[in-house]
Amino acid sequence: MSRVLIIGAGGVAGVVVKKCAMLPEYFDEIHLASRTLSKCEALQQEAGADRVVGVYKVDADIAAEVAALIRQVQPVLVINVALPYQDLPIMDACLETGVHYLDTANYEPKDEAKFEYSWQWAYHERFKEKGIMALLGAGFDPGVTNVFTAYAAKHYFDEIHYLDIVDCNGGDHGQAFATNFNPEINIREITQRGKYWENGEWHETDPISVREDLDYPGVGVRASYLLFHEELESIVKHFPTIKRARFWMTFGEQYLTHLRVLENVGMTSIKPVDFQGHKIVPLEFLKAVLPNPGSLAEGYTGLTCIGTYVTGLKDGKEKTIFIYNNCDHAACNAEVGAQAVSYTTGVPAMIGASMMVQGHWMKAGVWNMEQFDPDEFMNRLNQYGLPWQVVECDSPFKR
Ligand code: NDP
Repeated sequence: MSRVLIIGAGGVAGVVVKKCAMLPEYFDEIHLASRTLSKCEALQQEAGADRVVGVYKVDADIAAEVAALIRQVQPVLVINVALPYQDLPIMDACLETGVHYLDTANYEPKDEAKFEYSWQWAYHERFKEKGIMALLGAGFDPGVTNVFTAYAAKHYFDEIHYLDIVDCNGGDHGQAFATNFNPEINIREITQRGKYWENGEWHETDPISVREDLDYPGVGVRASYLLFHEELESIVKHFPTIKRARFWMTFGEQYLTHLRVLENVGMTSIKPVDFQGHKIVPLEFLKAVLPNPGSLAEGYTGLTCIGTYVTGLKDGKEKTIFIYNNCDHAACNAEVGAQAVSYTTGVPAMIGASMMVQGHWMKAGVWNMEQFDPDEFMNRLNQYGLPWQVVECDSPFKR
C-alpha cells in the first residue's frame, strides 16, 4: 500500500501530483493538502479525482494540524512541496505519527535569509529511533545534482577533487521580470552573499560578483554567477576528498538590472515596514505583484541545462566529466502544463518518493540524496522525463 500525502499546491506540486498520478504502480492513492483548498481542488481536477482521492486545507506552519491530517489520511510518506519554512513543522508531524518524509529545499527561518542543513540534520537520531526516514533536497538542485555527484564518484573516479554545479535557464518566458519558482524563496537565495568551499573551509563573496562565461550544451554561452547553494554543504560533508566545490547560475542582464533596482529601492527586504497602519514585508508584497511562476508555462520556449562538472583521479590520472540534463520548457508544458523549472524539481521528487515507497532507498534517519546508491535513481530519470548525458571533457574552470 503506497498512499502518499502531498503538501503544497504551487508550481512544483503541480508536477509532483501529475507525475505521481501517472504511476499507480508506485503510488496507489494520492492525497493533496495545502493552505488554499481551491488550488488543491483545481489540481485534483487536472490530475483526475480517481487518482487524487482526497484534498484538504492545512496550515503546515502548525505541526499539530499536519499531524491531525496525517492521522486522518494515514499515508506512508509525506511529500513536502510547500515552502522551506514548513520543513520543521512537517518533520515534527511525521515524527509524531511515524510517517516517512521527503522535501526539495532545506529549512530556512522566515525572519532570516539563511538556509543550512543543521536544523534538519538535528532530527537524525529521532527519526532513526522512530524507524522512519527523511529524504532531504529531492529536487534537481539540490537533488539530481547530488545524485550526479554520487554517480560520478561511483563509476568514473577513484577520488573526486573539484566540483562545479552549473544551472542554466536558457528559456524565454516573455515577461520583463519573473522568477521561475517561488519569488520570495528565489530572491532570498540569490541576494545573499556567495559562498564556496576550498581547501577545507568556506569562502564568501559579494552577491553576484564572481562571473564565468560558460558554454552550455543545447543553449550556448551564458554569463554564470557564483552563488551559495544548499547541496554544496551536504556534498562536501559526504565526499571529504573534495578540494573545491562551487555553484553557478545564469542570469541575463535584464534580470540583473531589475533585481538591482528592486534591491536599491528596498523591495527585496524581509524586514517589516509600516504601511498605512499595517506591517508589511516588502519581499512578500513583491511576490504578490510578480507573475506566479506556475503561470509562466504557456508560451515559455527554450531549454534548461543543469549539470555537474567533476574533476578527479582515475587510475592515477586526472580527468573531468560533465553530467547534465537538458529540459525543454514547451515539452514540459505539453506534458503536464508546467515550465521546466517546476518540472525539473517535481520529477525528481516523484522519483525520490518512488524509491522510498518501493524500498530501494529506505533507511531510518535523515539523509541527503548522495548518501544512497545512485544507479536506480539515474535509470528512473531517463525513464520519467529527465534524460541525462555524460561527456568526458576539459574543465572549463581555472584552478
Ligand atoms: P509555490 O509558491 O508555487 O508553491 C508553494 C505552495 O506551498 C503553495 O501552494 C502555498 O500555498 C503552499 N504553502 C505555503 N505556505 C503554506 C502553509 N503554511 N501551509 C500549507 N501550504 C503552504 O512554490 P514552488 O512550487 O515554486 O516551490 C515549492 C518548493 O520547491 C519550495 O520549497 C522551493 O524552494 C522548492 N524548489 C526546489 C528546487 C530544487 O531544485 N530543489 C527548485 C525550485 C523550487 P498558497 O497556494 O496558498 O500560496
